[in-house]
Amino acid sequence: MNNNLNINDNVYKIKGIGPKKSKSLNDLDIYTVLDLLNYYPKKYSDRRYLKKINSLVNGEVSLIECKILNVKLDSKSYNKKSGRVKIVAEDITGKISIVFFNGGYLYNSFKKGNLFTFYGEVSKAYGKTLAFKHQMINPSYALSGSEGDVRSIMPVYQTGKHLHQGDIKKWIKAGLNLDEQLTEWIPGSLIEKNNMCDIKYALNNIHYPKDETSIKAAKYRLIYGQFLKYKLSNIYKEMENKQCTNSKIEDILIDEFVSSLEFTLTKGQVDAISELETDLISEEPMNRLLQGDVGCGKTVVAEALLYKVVKSGHQAAYMAPTEILATQLYNNISKDFESFDINIELLTSSIKGKQKAEILDNIKDGKVDLLIGTHSLIQNNVVFNDLMLVITDEQHRFGVNQRKTLKEKGYCPNVLVMTATPIPRTLAATVYGNLDFTVIKTMPKGRKNIITTVTDELSKEKAYISLEKELKLGHQGYVVAPLIDESENLDLNSASEIYDELKIKFSEFKLGLLHGKLSREEKDMLMSEFLEKRIDLLVATVVIEVGIDVPNATVMLIENAERFGLAQLHQLRGRVGRSDIQSYCHLVSYGKSEISKRRMDAMKMHASGFDISEEDFRLRGPGDLNSTIQHGNDFNLDNFIRYIDILEKAGRDANDIFAKDENLTSEENRYIKDEINDVKESGFRNVL
Ligand code: ADP
Ligand code: MG
Repeated sequence: MNNNLNINDNVYKIKGIGPKKSKSLNDLDIYTVLDLLNYYPKKYSDRRYLKKINSLVNGEVSLIECKILNVKLDSKSYNKKSGRVKIVAEDITGKISIVFFNGGYLYNSFKKGNLFTFYGEVSKAYGKTLAFKHQMINPSYALSGSEGDVRSIMPVYQTGKHLHQGDIKKWIKAGLNLDEQLTEWIPGSLIEKNNMCDIKYALNNIHYPKDETSIKAAKYRLIYGQFLKYKLSNIYKEMENKQCTNSKIEDILIDEFVSSLEFTLTKGQVDAISELETDLISEEPMNRLLQGDVGCGKTVVAEALLYKVVKSGHQAAYMAPTEILATQLYNNISKDFESFDINIELLTSSIKGKQKAEILDNIKDGKVDLLIGTHSLIQNNVVFNDLMLVITDEQHRFGVNQRKTLKEKGYCPNVLVMTATPIPRTLAATVYGNLDFTVIKTMPKGRKNIITTVTDELSKEKAYISLEKELKLGHQGYVVAPLIDESENLDLNSASEIYDELKIKFSEFKLGLLHGKLSREEKDMLMSEFLEKRIDLLVATVVIEVGIDVPNATVMLIENAERFGLAQLHQLRGRVGRSDIQSYCHLVSYGKSEISKRRMDAMKMHASGFDISEEDFRLRGPGDLNSTIQHGNDFNLDNFIRYIDILEKAGRDANDIFAKDENLTSEENRYIKDEINDVKESGFRNVL
């Protein structure tokens, strides 16, 4: 009974959501009904048009309606796992083969002569089914005219633990029933000026769009809204910043640190360091973005700054997005600072009890010079004595508020954010506030281009041979898969499956399995085993994406590469080629579409993240809000660059708002302050 449900109520008030599901929703940052409405589909299934079998195109996702001619169970058992159901079906234009792998339990659902709709990717039939031109593998299906036989655009949500597609749809529908309670926070004049739909229309149509035009309008409104909110928060933050002077530190020389390094700095690193040093010794606090491609050596630049700040008697903090990365940083930096009498501590969520209390005391007393850690750094009980430098690594993973909270632990500290993502200046200004820019364009000497190959199921063996060859040379490797466990999507290879297979195939080597569901201790253990070369081959999910640095790793194989964004593939590939040894990256792609081929080609052809992001941009087209209906996940950071036009517009509008009404007191602007205070830590990721 959702009669007296309020849009700001906790999700557990929705019928059917108990403690377990509620917890799973919380893990996705969904607490209220409104949060649920802001959980956008990752893609849509366009089930509006029935296609005839003779007009199907391989690689396209289509809806067909046909009569069942024949149903066969391939395996003798009715075992859910092993049974394969093969169906021959026809419409008036031809026949098609429908195959359900691991679908033995479906056998009885299909009766000869019944009319069914099937929705899925069309591919070329093979083997004995060559008699037909096309097949569909594991499509969704429904008896014609039944409840499941939908003929409209349907949302598809990212599911999760205890969260099923059908449930999420039902809950969101319940939430949409309360759309009268939505508050429009964007000033009416801006809605009118930009010709936008209101929040009620936007949320209804992002979930259940009538057509492409309504998706486009909804997305525009939601993306604009997020950008506006961010820009407004940033301006607000900057106005506070203006009162900051006196961030000057003593100009300590860093020569001793630089000459202690095993390598000579590249020109890009030298220039970056001197630019950043100038910031440190000026009155105004540093507020800078350091951008440089994967592997260019940003960490050592950060170290030079940390050295300078700490040696001048102040404290510094270094925040990384994952525990694996924070621990690795802690280990590396401790080693590099070994001979300099610097007190370094690590703080993550698994450091607890007495140990934690002691660290916290030492931070407060100023005994800790440098604190490295994850989000744990921003907890209330972390209090610094004299925090003068805050560095965040791979900072797009952190929300505005998280960075702000850390910064507020010092009095106007210097702030450096580092990223490998190529971000144009205008975009960065809107997203991160008016940061200064430093770009490192050089790579350490002797780096060879990573040889990248693209293979499919059939030629995959070659990639494994290369993998084995590298391992035999005493090098190490990674195999990356999109998932941990077998998912509802049966044709994806999961890390644990691959791990089981490879353990047999590469029995002479030591393998490890790394994924996000492991505890921190387990992850750390694996990573240090890998670092110490007690593991030769690490099978992993994308947890290894960010920053991991194991120079002896020279080969990577990425399963289902078609599932990853180009920026993500580039980040992943950057885990190899971190020394002067020739490295290899093998992309195993099952994507059959033209776009998918061209994306893989882009990875083969380009070594630089900048080129790849340009190519990505070109392949997807700029800001065509229409184009995504078939292409899946649009709300992804990889894509943000596509909306640069909306971004710039929102940026200008935000400036206007403050120019006309600096204290946000006018009637029209009355909801803005709430929104600014309410900028969600992960809010940005939601829309992009
Ligand atoms: P990223 O910019 O991706 O964070 P890292 O800072 O992790 O890159 O550096 C990548 C690797 O290159 C590390 O192993 C680091 O020690 C090494 N490295 C950094 N600078 C140089 C250099 N000037 N010469 C040789 N190796 C370097
Ligand atoms: Mg890094």
